[in-house]
Amino acid sequence: MKHVLLVGAGHAHAGLLAALAQTPVRGARITLVSPYRRQIYSAMLPGVIAGHYRRAQAEFDVAALAERAYAEYLPGEVVRFDAERRVATLADGRSVAYDVASLNAGSRSDLSVPGAAELALPVKPFERLLERLRVISRVAVAGGGAAGAELAMALAYRGGAVTLYSEAAAFPPALTERIERALRKRRVDYRPGMRIDALEPGPVVVAGRSRQQFDLVLWATGAAPLPWLANSGLALDERGFVQVDHGLRSVSHPEVFAVGDCASLGEAKSGVHAVRHGRALEQNLRNVLLGWPVHRYEPQPRALLLLTCGRRYAIAARGNWSAEGYSLWWWKNWIDRRWMAFLAGKKKALG
Ligand SMILES: Cc1cc2nc3c(=O)[nH]c(=O)nc-3n(C[C@H](O)[C@H](O)[C@H](O)COP(=O)(O)OP(=O)(O)OC[C@H]3O[C@@H](n4cnc5c(N)ncnc54)[C@H](O)[C@@H]3O)c2cc1C
Repeated sequence: MKHVLLVGAGHAHAGLLAALAQTPVRGARITLVSPYRRQIYSAMLPGVIAGHYRRAQAEFDVAALAERAYAEYLPGEVVRFDAERRVATLADGRSVAYDVASLNAGSRSDLSVPGAAELALPVKPFERLLERLRVISRVAVAGGGAAGAELAMALAYRGGAVTLYSEAAAFPPALTERIERALRKRRVDYRPGMRIDALEPGPVVVAGRSRQQFDLVLWATGAAPLPWLANSGLALDERGFVQVDHGLRSVSHPEVFAVGDCASLGEAKSGVHAVRHGRALEQNLRNVLLGWPVHRYEPQPRALLLLTCGRRYAIAARGNWSAEGYSLWWWKNWIDRRWMAFLAGKKKALG
């Protein structure tokens, strides 16, 4: 019997497990390794911070999901992955051998700016972020992408004095203007084109000639690869993410799938894409176990972006189209709650 190892309970694996709970895979033993038994859904995190959701409403039960899918759940963190020997090593020293593996362990914040690793609070893991996010008074947020903008507006909505540093525009010009307007309306001190050069004890943010002290610096800059991928033996792209083929399999080790943020495809890193990867992964995992050819995954360069603005108001964008309003927040709320119901086994399919 083949042993399938799933690393991480990211969006794709969560969707895969929910699908396997409905139609189990035969002839394989599945193990899921992921550190948190209850996991926060990223799309609802700004809503938790803004106070629209209780934490429990934005969490899913990883252990229960694995159990429903007839998978063994091992709470833990992979610290080494050896694609040649087909073995993953966990932080507590245990090792898990596999025949087929799938990596959906996400990404981490890029903390390469001097002082950031010691003094900033990275957004990931979310579980740690929420534990440490006690002070919401003078907060600096680093990173003007969707995550940084959403977190800044959520914190401002909760009464924080928030400064958002953004090195470069992350969106097309019309959408950038719309997001800037939203930030200013919510009294976020938005500083476009301002790169944080260093953090000093205080914490003090050093950006060019400006130095400013905050109670907290939240780090929400672009995704960086997980460190253990570097020595995994898997073929990686120039940034260090796993290079995959059209079937979402490693180009160097086809028995290893990589999905979500940790895979390198022609797509932005987003939960929407990771969910789509999960659907393709389900099909291809079944095929691989049966010895059938894999299906082709078509990357989707233009995904729907739904960005919440502190209160129950959201901006939607896709390609060059964008819109905003209260109804868009309720639409996003419906999509997110439907996903959570699917993961909890209360909804058969997403339709
Ligand atoms: C504040 C915020 C809001 C966002 N909102 C949205 C949104 O509304 N829509 C959207 O599309 N995207 C959103 N994103 C982006 C989105 O969160 C990421 O692109 C997405 O989470 C990537 O999903 P994933 O499936 O690759 O991994 P993740 O969802 O990050 O999951 C990674 C999993 O791997 C586990 N893991 C990590 N390290 C290890 C390890 N070493 N061993 C084993 N397991 C491990 C983690 O615990 C977790 O279970 C948001 C991001 C942030 C920060």
